[in-house]
Amino acid sequence: MSNASHDYLVVGAGAAGCIVANRLTASGRHTVLLLEAGGRDTNPWIPIPAGISRLLAIPDLLWLNRITPKPEFGGRSIALLQGKLLGGGTSINGMMYVRGQRGDYNSWSELGCTGWSWDEVLPYFKKSECLEEGGSDAFHGRSGELKLSWMKENIHDTARAFLEAAQQDGLRFNEDMNSGVQEGIGYLLGCIYKGRRQSTANTFLRAAAGRPNLETRTTSLVRRVLFEERRAVGVEIEDASGTVSTVRCNREVLLCAGTLSTPLVLQRSGVGDAAHLASLGIQPVVDLPQVGKNLQDHLFAHLKFRLREPRFSLNATLSSMPRMALEAMKWLLFGTGWLNVTSSHLTSFFRSGPDVHRPDVQASMRPFTFTILPSGAPKIDDFPGMTVSAIQTHPYSRGEVRIRSRDPHEDGTIDANYLSDPRDIAILARGLARIRGIMRQPAIADRVVEEVEPGADVTSPEALEHHLRTECQTVYHPVGTCRMGADADAVLDPALRVRGVQGLRVIDASVMPVISSGNTVAPAMMIGEKGADLTLADAR
Ligand SMILES: Cc1cc2nc3c(=O)[nH]c(=O)nc-3n(C[C@H](O)[C@H](O)[C@H](O)COP(=O)(O)OP(=O)(O)OC[C@H]3O[C@@H](n4cnc5c(N)ncnc54)[C@H](O)[C@@H]3O)c2cc1C
Repeated sequence: MSNASHDYLVVGAGAAGCIVANRLTASGRHTVLLLEAGGRDTNPWIPIPAGISRLLAIPDLLWLNRITPKPEFGGRSIALLQGKLLGGGTSINGMMYVRGQRGDYNSWSELGCTGWSWDEVLPYFKKSECLEEGGSDAFHGRSGELKLSWMKENIHDTARAFLEAAQQDGLRFNEDMNSGVQEGIGYLLGCIYKGRRQSTANTFLRAAAGRPNLETRTTSLVRRVLFEERRAVGVEIEDASGTVSTVRCNREVLLCAGTLSTPLVLQRSGVGDAAHLASLGIQPVVDLPQVGKNLQDHLFAHLKFRLREPRFSLNATLSSMPRMALEAMKWLLFGTGWLNVTSSHLTSFFRSGPDVHRPDVQASMRPFTFTILPSGAPKIDDFPGMTVSAIQTHPYSRGEVRIRSRDPHEDGTIDANYLSDPRDIAILARGLARIRGIMRQPAIADRVVEEVEPGADVTSPEALEHHLRTECQTVYHPVGTCRMGADADAVLDPALRVRGVQGLRVIDASVMPVISSGNTVAPAMMIGEKGADLTLADAR
């Protein structure tokens, strides 16, 4: 093992990892080596918000995870893509900033995750954030590294019509869906500033880059954590040339490799289901059968509509080279135009029934339509259209990820088990019914020719179930595979320390016991902030 003397090894420079690296090096007292499997964030499409469709077609920037086909999900093996570069998901994602509901975090706390209630995590959301205008100081930070902006001016006219139609259908206008109360419809916050994507790499990491106590290495795949007895003392790394080396730490190894990678690194290191590990020839360090279990993700159930006129939709613009050249000029000169948008123009949250106590469906609206190619990349349709998608905020189905061998180059098995719990079908179907109700409201109905997918005649429970099982797509929000908790089965304690060993913590979206309502990047960043604080508290 090399004699390098870093205090902390941070594995993965994604949403959480870049924040952890920044916060641990801020005081100058600790040294950090940040190890990222992917490359640098230099691709020219990264800063352009609408560049997401291009980015998702560049395999070098992605982990191309394929899920195991299951009959409940139409036998499909869709790609559960994740970002593989500095910034992780934040360098390639849809930039929607959605914290979740007060009740999400209070339920974590009730499950034994002391310190994770809404009131206790709100300061960490605020700490990262720099919102220059709007919102209340009670909920928003003004001086963090992450600059956000309201997606208010640059939303399409058909999105404005949808906003009005939703209110005609009884949804209230919600001025700030990041205040812990999501119910209603309102303007999104985007991880965008002056038209440029704000990733954790070009904000938190860039701010820390000049510090002498931070070293960042890209194309450095962490193969496993190294233990002496039960203490994590370093990691084994493979660089781009295939050279394998080891590096030591004085204090802790912090795994921030994301929901699909962190449990695989743990399992390859001997932390997991001892019987499974032994069957692959891995000497178990600690028997933690829950590592890799509790996988949760959000699914999109799309409704696609054909609209009367090309001007009602962005499809023609998005697929015309001359028009996109004009948009590119606007973006370059002023940071405006249709390249400056989050992946959805509007989002809303509602309850799927009168007996539901908080919103269990998110509906996201896009004034364009697309088809997902087998690679997982989207392609714009050749008719004027709009999409509204129902997303169940708290799916009941649970999946699992596990290694197939000791070889870090062999993909793990991802049993997403989407829609394996029938309650998920029922809730998504009720979400689609509500969206259809909104689309019948006067503010928008005149623009619509027809529902093209799944089609207005697809209304029976059986037909809707078939549609959901064969057409739902991932929102790319996997979480939960190293859940924290107070119970003996939890992988982590509420301070994010791996149970049964020393010197090892997990700080990324995998720690969530239950998925947050809505998009997961803001919660992952909050976990990075709080995880860094917990680590520093132990150092003191
Ligand atoms: C296409 C897409 C669109 C999305 N859109 C949105 C959105 O609009 N809004 C939203 O809120 N959320 C969105 N998300 C989800 C969001 O980006 C993730 O929830 C978030 O990035 C998770 O943060 P993380 O820190 O857990 O992991 P990540 O951000 O994925 O970071 C993990 C990092 O670890 C690295 N890594 C993995 N394994 C190793 C290893 N063995 N050695 C070294 N490094 C390793 C990875 O390369 C990566 O850089 C989207 C995700 C995707 C993929």
